[in-house]
Amino acid sequence: MKVFKFGGASVKDAGSVRNMCEIIKTHRADELIVVVSAMGKMTNALEQLLSLTMEEKEVSTELSEIKDFHQTIINDLGISSDEVLKKDLTDVFEQLENGLNEFSSSMGYDYMYDQTVSLGEILSTKIIAAYLNSLSIATAWLDARKVVKTDDLHRQAKVDWGASQAMIKAQVNRSIEEGLVLTQGFIGSNSDFKSTTLGREGSDFSAAIFATSVSAESVTIWKDVPGVLNADPKKFEKTTLYEKLPYKEAAEMTYYGASVIHPKTIKPLAQKGIPLYVRSFQSPEDQGTTIEESIIPNLAPAIIHKDKQTVISFKISDFSFINEHHIHLIFEHIKRLNLTINLMQNSAISFTICMDDNPKKREQLRTALMDEFLIYYNEGLEMITIKNYNQEAINEHMKDKQIIIEQRSRNNFQMVFRK
Ligand code: ASP
Repeated sequence: MKVFKFGGASVKDAGSVRNMCEIIKTHRADELIVVVSAMGKMTNALEQLLSLTMEEKEVSTELSEIKDFHQTIINDLGISSDEVLKKDLTDVFEQLENGLNEFSSSMGYDYMYDQTVSLGEILSTKIIAAYLNSLSIATAWLDARKVVKTDDLHRQAKVDWGASQAMIKAQVNRSIEEGLVLTQGFIGSNSDFKSTTLGREGSDFSAAIFATSVSAESVTIWKDVPGVLNADPKKFEKTTLYEKLPYKEAAEMTYYGASVIHPKTIKPLAQKGIPLYVRSFQSPEDQGTTIEESIIPNLAPAIIHKDKQTVISFKISDFSFINEHHIHLIFEHIKRLNLTINLMQNSAISFTICMDDNPKKREQLRTALMDEFLIYYNEGLEMITIKNYNQEAINEHMKDKQIIIEQRSRNNFQMVFRK
């Protein structure tokens, strides 16, 4: 069995859905599980719809836009007379509207988010299933909420691996008899069968969950880039494609902020030795990148850029030096506030961290530690990590920047700067 994952950009309009189905057709001989995201920017649109509802604003325009967006795709695909699809979509929209009308703040934003936003994936896969059907490609639509079981941590739900793998395996083995299995990324449900989501861009991770459950032969993520590049082509002019990457390299790149694959995707695949292919849905004949257990000497340096960074320095004012007690105290509050540190550095009298901009938490951290330290911070900074650096890459990227922190280890060079 093989797992294919298609993100929002690969199903953003009728043309892209057709293209996706062409790719599926060329792999008809394989047993396929196809994991799909919400169409285009629908997750953002649903987030916006919920925010407006919470502010008690009128949402009829936004709601119509969401309906029209999907209806246009249905019309363009020529499946508007599919009665089953019509009924399915009416039900989903009814569920969406009823939800929005019934929500009360006592339910908590994160819970309401999951009930609302998860519907984007349901809409998308219902439409694609109907289209595949119209092409006579036998398809079994699988509700990921029934088989991907999670805890109650809405918006960042943790997967119950044991339960999910058993249910996925059993269900997929039944469904695959009917045809390709089409399911949703990003979504699952808790023990009360309430929808949960796995975190933004979580569909790659869903693909890994499905793949490990059925011991798939491979996972292919179809993207709008040729594969894994050594830098984000939206941010950097010169990029190189990695034809092969070891799991470890790919996982570390996502840790430093490379957004090409969701950070949680690699580990479960590596543990089972399932190769991950990252390929372009625009030129599906190209091989893209293969991520698997391998040793590859002289990898091109990977340039990973993160914006919206905050640097906070904790300084000691009484002529003593930074010691374990201070660091312990700082980390206690970092842990309590669930903050992630992107870089840290210390000197005799100060300890400095870099994290994603988050004014609310920054203030909470400052308040908690202001009696012990003098605290300084800068926001809106940028960070570049050069993995497997060489001097040429460092020189090129340090040019024209006001460097605030610079750090290098044997393999990585990192800098925080202001443009
Ligand atoms: N639709 C979700 C998002 O946009 C999940 C995904 O696309 O991976 O974040």
